[in-house]
Amino acid sequence: MSTETLMPYDEALERFEPVLGLETHVELGTASKMFCGCPTGFGAAANTQVCPVCLALPGSLPVANEMAIESTIRIGLALNCSIASWCRFARKNYFYPDMPKNYQISQYDEPLCVDGYLDIEIEGKTVRIGIERVHLEEDTGKSTHVGGATGRIQGADYSIVDYNRAGIPLVEIVTRPVEGTDRLAPEIAKAYATELREVMRSLGVSDVRMEEGSMRCDVNVSLMPRGTTEWGTRTETKNVNSLRSIERSVRHEIERQAAILADGGRIIQETRHFHEDTGTTTAGRSKEEAQDYRYFPEPDLVPIAPDPAWVAKLKAELPELPGARRSRLQREWGVSDLDMAAMHNADAVDLVEATVAAGAPPADARKWWMGELARRANESGTALAALPITPDQIARVCAMVAGGALNDKLARQVLEGVLEGEGSPDEVVSARGLQIVNDQGELSAIIEQVLADNSDAADKVRGGKIAAVGALVGGVMKASRGKADAGRARELILQKLGVSE
Ligand SMILES: [Zn+2]
Repeated sequence: MSTETLMPYDEALERFEPVLGLETHVELGTASKMFCGCPTGFGAAANTQVCPVCLALPGSLPVANEMAIESTIRIGLALNCSIASWCRFARKNYFYPDMPKNYQISQYDEPLCVDGYLDIEIEGKTVRIGIERVHLEEDTGKSTHVGGATGRIQGADYSIVDYNRAGIPLVEIVTRPVEGTDRLAPEIAKAYATELREVMRSLGVSDVRMEEGSMRCDVNVSLMPRGTTEWGTRTETKNVNSLRSIERSVRHEIERQAAILADGGRIIQETRHFHEDTGTTTAGRSKEEAQDYRYFPEPDLVPIAPDPAWVAKLKAELPELPGARRSRLQREWGVSDLDMAAMHNADAVDLVEATVAAGAPPADARKWWMGELARRANESGTALAALPITPDQIARVCAMVAGGALNDKLARQVLEGVLEGEGSPDEVVSARGLQIVNDQGELSAIIEQVLADNSDAADKVRGGKIAAVGALVGGVMKASRGKADAGRARELILQKLGVSE
C-alpha cells in the first residue's frame, strides 16, 4: 500500500471546497428474488437459492416482482420523488464472473422515481439533499477469492462464486451533487446515510444491515479551489459499509486530493477502496475512459406503468417518516433543536420515547439517557441501546426520585447497580440500602451530631453568615453517606439554628 501525502483537514478546507455525491444500494427485503421465485434469506449454503432464471440458463425468462416495484415506489414517495407513469428496465452489458447473464437488468434513462429530496439535520440546521433518481435493479452474486493475503483477486489461488445473491432486488438511490457542505462534508455524508437508513427502516422495505451488505454506499468526492466554480475530477469510493466509514472515507479523500492538487498534480477519475483498519483509500478501477455498457431496453420484460390511483394509495398509506416523527416528539417534549439533534445523534430518541411511554417525564427521561447513561455507554464503548438497562427501569428510577425515595446521587448508584447486573431498581435499592433518609428523627439526630462537631460553622450561621450552612449540609450528606435529602437537611439546620433566610 503506498503511503500518500495528506493535507491537514483544516488547511484542505481553507483552500478547497468539497462536492459530494452518494449512490446507495439497498437490498429489498422481499421474500423472493427480483425476476424469479427463489428465496432471498441471508446466510444459506452457497448456491442453494438458485434456479434457471437467476443462473441465466438458456431459454429462461424473467418476471418482475410486484412487491419490489411497490417497495421502490414507496421509497421514491418517502424521498419526495415523482413516480414515472411509464418506464422500462434496461440491460446493462458487462462481463463479471458473479453475474451469470453477463448483463444486469437495471434501469437506465427511464428510472421509476426522479427528482426528490431528503432533509437531514446537522448542528441544529436543516440541509436538503437533492435526490436525482431512485431505480430498481438486480444484485449480482458474490465472489470469494481464496489464498491471497488481501481477499482481492490479485494473488489469489482460486475464486469461488455463490449465486444466492444474484437476482435479489436492489434499489439504487442517487443524490444530486451536494455543494456548500464546507467543513461538514464528512458529517453530512454520514448524516444522509443515517437518515436514509431510518427511512428504509420506517418503510419496512429492507433490514438495511450495512455489515451484511444489505445497504452500501458509493461515495463520490471532488474538490474545487476556493473562489472557483468549476467542479474538480471526482473519485468514487465503492461499497463503504458502515456509517462511520462513510464519514472517514470522505475526510480521507478530501485530505488526499487536496495534497495532490496543492502539489500541482491532477486527480485521476477512478473507483477507490476504503480500508477500515487504516482509514485510507486505495486506487481501484480507472474510470478515465467511460465504459460503454451498451444499454438497451430489456426485451424480455413488459414496461412498468403504475396506475396513478395505486401510487396515490401508496402515498396515503406511508408511515410517519423519521424526520416528521422527530419534529412531533420535539414538540411533545418541548426540547430545543440542538437537544433533539443531540438525542438523534446519540441514537437516544427511541429510548427516550419508550421511557416516556413507561411513565417518566420527558425531561427526566432525556436527562438520564443523555447524561449518566450516555457517559457510561461512551466509557465502555457500547451503543446506548446495548446497555443492560431498559426504558421501564429508567422510568421506575425517575418515579422513585419524583416520590422522594431517591435523590439524584442515589439514583446514579441504583443505575450503576442495574448496569452491573444486580437486578431491578427496587432490588438494587434494598440490596445496597439506598433509601433516602426521610425519617425525621433519624435526620434530626444526624444534624444534631454535625452541629455539635462543627460548632464554628454553626456559630457563623447563627451570626448571619448563611453561606456557611453549605459546610454543615455537606457534613450531613457525608454522615448519612449521601442518603439525606440535601434540601430538607438545609431547612432543618437553619430551623435548629434559629435563622431564617
Ligand atoms: Zn432464481
